[in-house]
Amino acid sequence: MMSLTFEDIMNKDKQYILPNYNRYNVAIIRGRGAYVYDTNNKEYLDFLAGISVCNFGHCNPLINNAVKEQLDTLIHTSNLYYTQNQAELGEWISKISFEGRTFFGNSGTEANEAALKLIRYRGNKISKDKNVILSLKGSFHGRSSGALALTGQSKHQEGFEPLLPNVKHIELNNIEDLRANFNDKIAGIFLEPIQGESGIHPITEDFALEVRKLCDKHDALLIFDEIQTGLGRTGKYFGYEHFPITPDGFTLAKSLANGIPIGAFHIKEKFKDCLPAGKHASTFGGNPLATRAGIEVMKMLTGGLLNQIEDVSKDLFEKLDSLRLKYPSIIKEIRGKGLMIALELSINAKDVLNKCHEEGLLCNAIGDYVLRLLPPLIITQKEVDLFYKKISTVLSKFNSKG
Ligand code: PLP
Repeated sequence: MMSLTFEDIMNKDKQYILPNYNRYNVAIIRGRGAYVYDTNNKEYLDFLAGISVCNFGHCNPLINNAVKEQLDTLIHTSNLYYTQNQAELGEWISKISFEGRTFFGNSGTEANEAALKLIRYRGNKISKDKNVILSLKGSFHGRSSGALALTGQSKHQEGFEPLLPNVKHIELNNIEDLRANFNDKIAGIFLEPIQGESGIHPITEDFALEVRKLCDKHDALLIFDEIQTGLGRTGKYFGYEHFPITPDGFTLAKSLANGIPIGAFHIKEKFKDCLPAGKHASTFGGNPLATRAGIEVMKMLTGGLLNQIEDVSKDLFEKLDSLRLKYPSIIKEIRGKGLMIALELSINAKDVLNKCHEEGLLCNAIGDYVLRLLPPLIITQKEVDLFYKKISTVLSKFNSKG
């Protein structure tokens, strides 16, 4: 295919693509491992990984070779038939979490929609009043009408009212608020172990324990949204493993197929009949191509990667701490776990991000003051050192301005 210049790409985009995204002035045209390249062949160290999607590296040869083989074998049939890859990926998910059943969709939003529908369907079977769903203020669960109602950020909801009714938002880590709103009408609750899109805010262990207790007491389903935190991002297979509880189900997407669209909702075996045949479906969900990539992801994830993430994360946090000591007037706080990290700044994060782009570093600004790092999970000491060099150069520019 003929390559276009950056200007040509931007002009075509501005003419033909719905303007619902604010884009940076960069067009990425290829990637390898932790690095991507733009139309001028400028190299960027990718500390965003497509927002935690290409976690196993861009164009990972093991995953890509499997996908290429699958492309030449079978791309799609239909969920009318059995497919080996879907069944095997379901088995992998059970093996690394708990015995249960998985529904496959094509995105995080769809995974949450499936969970939402199961919760509602089960609740309605139990009693006509059991139809209230809880989630947290500041949460992000997607943008379809159902997932948007779960999302606890008014900036995403404004203008789309009326939203799906009977969804209540609880203050993050506020046990009193949780208790005050929990009763037998609650059919289920959605939690991100660490809220990602609102700036890396973890739930506390006490809060997680109380949620589990109340769900058991009131027969409500506890669903962890692991779309950003799952599959090694926080240093464990799942974010919920940081707490001494197990959810009833969880949702996955993003890196599950390292960039091929996929989403998954996994629920404990005992709830498997709560969404019976004919009540939910997806044409593409779990097709042979995406699930083949998913199987390769599982092999990589379970092949010792968590140890590597632990080492690299320790080194990265140490370097970030040293930067905070060097630039106390710029970096206020460092939050996160594993390789899911936020720098709370006292200067505008978007200005910092622009300088990062100039230095050949991709990361992400959330709101006015948070710089978010979500590097691919395969980074090594080399990338941590390079990141440190680049971010030091960026911050020194702001420091000299006083
Ligand atoms: N849930 C969480 C925690 C997310 O971070 C996201 C996306 O950023 C979603 C849900 C929505 O996923 P998708 O954009 O794949 O629909």
